[in-house]
Amino acid sequence: MTELPGTWYDGRSSRGQPARLRSPAPGRLVLAIAEGEREFDAGEVTLSPRLGQLARELRFVGGGHMELEHSPLLDQWLPGRSRIEAAVDWLERRRAAVLSATAALVVGVIAFFQLGLPWMAREVAPLVPPPIERTISNQALALLDGHLLEPTRLPAPRRESLQQSFFDMTRGLPRADGLRLDFRHAPGIGPNAFVLPDGQVVMTDQLVTLAKDDEELLAVLAHEAGHHEHRHGLRRALEKSAMLVVVGFLFGDVSGTGALSVSLPVLLVESGYSRQHEREADEFAFRQLAAKGYSPDAFARIMGRMSFDGKIDSGLGPIGYLSSHPPSAERIEAARAAAASGSAADEAVGSDQAGE
Ligand SMILES: [Zn+2]
Repeated sequence: MTELPGTWYDGRSSRGQPARLRSPAPGRLVLAIAEGEREFDAGEVTLSPRLGQLARELRFVGGGHMELEHSPLLDQWLPGRSRIEAAVDWLERRRAAVLSATAALVVGVIAFFQLGLPWMAREVAPLVPPPIERTISNQALALLDGHLLEPTRLPAPRRESLQQSFFDMTRGLPRADGLRLDFRHAPGIGPNAFVLPDGQVVMTDQLVTLAKDDEELLAVLAHEAGHHEHRHGLRRALEKSAMLVVVGFLFGDVSGTGALSVSLPVLLVESGYSRQHEREADEFAFRQLAAKGYSPDAFARIMGRMSFDGKIDSGLGPIGYLSSHPPSAERIEAARAAAASGSAADEAVGSDQAGE
């Protein structure tokens, strides 16, 4: 008769002793150890579930257990439980795994949207070739020129003078090549400026009128140059398009009306910048202004004036690209702080020189 070898633990000491198990008749088991043999009914023992190559454990009702390698004989000797009981047990043992897998999936999807997509967009945006940037930009501008933007009414010398100042202020930047400044009359939008992925900056006549001096306009333009250096617009549009594809995939609408029919120029017009992008563009602007001898305080001045102009946040509807520069107290404060630290640094340099 076949016997299975194993180790017997009596439950009182941690020391095991050699044991053998056999089944003399259906439903009966005999455990043989040094002290002798004990016979059991199969119902008096529980067998641990089979888990890969792990040893199996046979627990006896009166205490003590036997560890032994898996053998198909074990499943023959011990009467199987009902299928339902087994299924319930299977689920019981996996409930924690199922719950944690679901939680992990939810966390994973959120992390993908929050971190994965922006990361992907940041990596992909620099790979978009300039001709495609130009096409996307021209199409996006055409969408706006159709109804929200009209030809500029500023006199040519005024435009040229601002274009020259913008050129001087951005000269030497890594992506300065594509930058250029255009103007549009936009009574429906009011004072605003935005940059397209190819570096085309559009400033409204209304913003030029609002500014008290050119330094204020250069402050806004430096902010737009910041968006351009960081490729914020294209990154945002890429994030949105990827998000639409993923949402379509998750909810089963990958075809037709949803994700794939939406083109990048439309997304560009519809996508606002994130707060982080605004902060990055602001910080870029403060540095650039200071480097070119302008005070970031000009940024605080014009932002402060924009916040009193009702047009900036109304009547734009879904045009996030244009409504994406909401003036905020926080940003004005940051500009003032940058200006203050800049002038403090100047004074420090001055006093150093005076001390020499
Ligand atoms: Zn901005």
